[in-house]
Amino acid sequence: MQCPFCKTPDTRVVDSRLAEDGTQVRRRRECEKCGGRFTTFERAQLTMPNIVKRSGDPEPFREDKLREGIGHAIYKRPVSPEMVDHAIDSVMRKLRGTGEREVPSRQVGEWVMEELRDLDHVAYVRFASIYRAFEDVNAFREEIERLQAQPSAAERKSQLPLLEAETTTRRRGKNG
Ligand SMILES: [Zn+2]
Repeated sequence: MQCPFCKTPDTRVVDSRLAEDGTQVRRRRECEKCGGRFTTFERAQLTMPNIVKRSGDPEPFREDKLREGIGHAIYKRPVSPEMVDHAIDSVMRKLRGTGEREVPSRQVGEWVMEELRDLDHVAYVRFASIYRAFEDVNAFREEIERLQAQPSAAERKSQLPLLEAETTTRRRGKNG
């Protein structure tokens, strides 16, 4: 770590110990060039990153908002609350796993789509039609045909028809 006094790129750790009940590591460092000493604290970053909306504005991550978005997509679909919890856990793990302070909402949308694609194709298409503005009707149709060729777990079980009203592209304009 750089010396805060003389900006030498590297400093030596002279002491390292656990602090705050083991949730922190406290290090005493010394600069061999100027002799300056300073302390650093290291702790796990467990807070969720902020979500950067398409407008560029960051906002705190909200689990209820994520749950609501998935809830709309799975409306009247054979997806259990446990499956939803699992999908939300998975997305939140990925969010934390970035180690970033900010993650674009677009990225979160992609992760949600990955989860839904495995869960239920209708839910996936509903979500995707809102979050991934399909370039044109053909791109949308190609995606649906691709999905129909590979039924999801729920569809294989129940033989539910893929897409009834869904085939009419529902564009909702701008979404955060
Ligand atoms: Zn120094």
